[in-house]
Amino acid sequence: MNFIRKFVYLFILAVFMVNLATAHPIFEAVGRGNSNKISDIQLKNGEAAVWYLFHAGWAVKTSSTLMIFDYLPNGFVDPNEIKDQNVYVFISHGHGDHFDQTILEWKKVIPDITYVFGWQAQEAQGHHAFGRDRLFKSIGPLKVKNIFHNFDNIPESAFLIEVDGLTIYFSGDHGSFAGALNPVYKDNIDYMSQQSDEFDLVFLSIFGSPTYDGELYAIDKFKPRVLLPMHYGGRESDAERFVSLARLKFPKTKFWYPLKQGDRFLYKK
Ligand SMILES: [Zn+2]
Repeated sequence: MNFIRKFVYLFILAVFMVNLATAHPIFEAVGRGNSNKISDIQLKNGEAAVWYLFHAGWAVKTSSTLMIFDYLPNGFVDPNEIKDQNVYVFISHGHGDHFDQTILEWKKVIPDITYVFGWQAQEAQGHHAFGRDRLFKSIGPLKVKNIFHNFDNIPESAFLIEVDGLTIYFSGDHGSFAGALNPVYKDNIDYMSQQSDEFDLVFLSIFGSPTYDGELYAIDKFKPRVLLPMHYGGRESDAERFVSLARLKFPKTKFWYPLKQGDRFLYKK
């Protein structure tokens, strides 16, 4: 009995190790070519390669940048892999499922790295930081706007980014529960939706089960080409319920939802 148990344990351990070995690198080939080197992925204006890192964590490569959003330590990014990239790291707020100090270590390895905080964090000194006001900042090739909220009693921003012919919205935890819309949420979405005529990629945290009133309101306002639901850390397949409902209401929007870390998408306008 003991032997069998030991064998089963070793077998599970071996499967786990193999999984770990094959899970890396995260930046597997997207689009043209078969190279797994991120620097070999060439994109034109209006194109983006998108990797799901975990939970609300994403990497988005455009023709001139690599943007990383709300990275968690188990998001698998090895800074050595991306050290020749023009990297922009966005952090929406200070909660542990959106911000980890690991990202600040990356600057030791990546010469061209810029941090953009959604609040006036202590760690944001010397970096770009948004706050309570709705601001517009030109950051390298990026044009960035924010909306602010403190629904969870901590300061947070969601971001709108225009770069390389793309308009991208990243919600962080800017969301709404089922039922009547929070007036701050509604006003923020109304404002953001007026900032661009078109939205290519919208990353949206999904909190509003079972009726998803806030999420559906945002999609109706943004009318995005692609909607990527998020904030499912470890329960990714739960997105299917939301997507099956939202698809009926918004047949023109594509819904891309990852089922596992490392899932990747290629966007072309
Ligand atoms: Zn969160």
